[in-house]
Amino acid sequence: RKIDETSVEVLVNKVLNGDRMMLAKAITLIESNAPHHFTLAQQMLGKLLPHTGKSIRIGITGVPGAGKSTFIEQFGLLLSEQGHRVAVLAIDPSSTISGGSILGDKTRMEKLVRNENAFIRPSPSSGTLGGVHRKTRETILACEAAGYDIIIVETVGVGQSEVIVRGMVDFFMLLTITGAGDQLQGMKKGIMELADVIVVNKADGDNKPLAEKTRREYNQILHFLMPPTKGWETKAYTSSSINGDGIEEIWAVITKFKEITEHSGVFIERRKGQAKEWMSSQITERLHYAFYQHPEIKKLLPYFQNAVINGDTTVSLAVDTLFDNYLKK
Ligand code: GDP
Repeated sequence: RKIDETSVEVLVNKVLNGDRMMLAKAITLIESNAPHHFTLAQQMLGKLLPHTGKSIRIGITGVPGAGKSTFIEQFGLLLSEQGHRVAVLAIDPSSTISGGSILGDKTRMEKLVRNENAFIRPSPSSGTLGGVHRKTRETILACEAAGYDIIIVETVGVGQSEVIVRGMVDFFMLLTITGAGDQLQGMKKGIMELADVIVVNKADGDNKPLAEKTRREYNQILHFLMPPTKGWETKAYTSSSINGDGIEEIWAVITKFKEITEHSGVFIERRKGQAKEWMSSQITERLHYAFYQHPEIKKLLPYFQNAVINGDTTVSLAVDTLFDNYLKK
């Protein structure tokens, strides 16, 4: 049956009962770009809202090949064994640009996919990064309402998307590997400053001593960086997603993090701040859209662009005039 035919009420009840098929359907509704689906999705989310928030939201980033999916599978299986319910979502910036995807193409997490305590959802494959942002945040809420107490949001380490994911999770993990000395300089620093933990993966076999060395190097650098979470010191660990070494330790780190930040109030403060940020970014996006779609602006914009290019007016004056017209009509 189509979404329209399934009443919102039925969808809500089944999601609250933890029905995975209906959760998938609810997310499809959230992801839909059709205006009437947007309205239905918001009705649904309004009803789910009282049942959300009771999870730990974990962001995981790392370059392609770092072992994200292998790690998440092991991690998810461990948590499932402990009785947790784990939802894995993804934000793949490549899919919004090219329609192709770095994260989604290969068959990933085969065991976790079949685990009844797990729910895996690939990245929404269309729309702007802002649109994907909204969809993922709302998907987090739907998963929480369905009883998932651990939400993992995975993203590829290629820039902008880390900041977006950091803005929607409680805890942020950078998964990295050895043999990337250059990573320790330049590009990594920005991402390191977002991380609550750094995990040097593939610490197994011959690579183990090198991974240990890399871990120590990271710890030295971390010493000079400002940690993103008040009252929490970011440290580096090693793991092997193949033999499972270190994975339990990382869960212990996350548990400790939750304990400490809940106690200090940092946890709830961050969530409040994130909700405010999210609202503000949605307003910005809507205004941006409304402005450029405005008939008067569509008409006037080329004229003023030319005027600016030709030096006939200043940018500020042009923008002023455009806004006068936007607000008047
Ligand atoms: P992703 O692109 O970050 O999701 O990386 P994948 O999980 O697909 O892993 C990339 C490759 O590294 C695969 O061939 C994995 O089998 C391998 N791999 C992942 N984790 C480990 C690990 O801990 N140790 C070793 N030796 N190989 C790993």
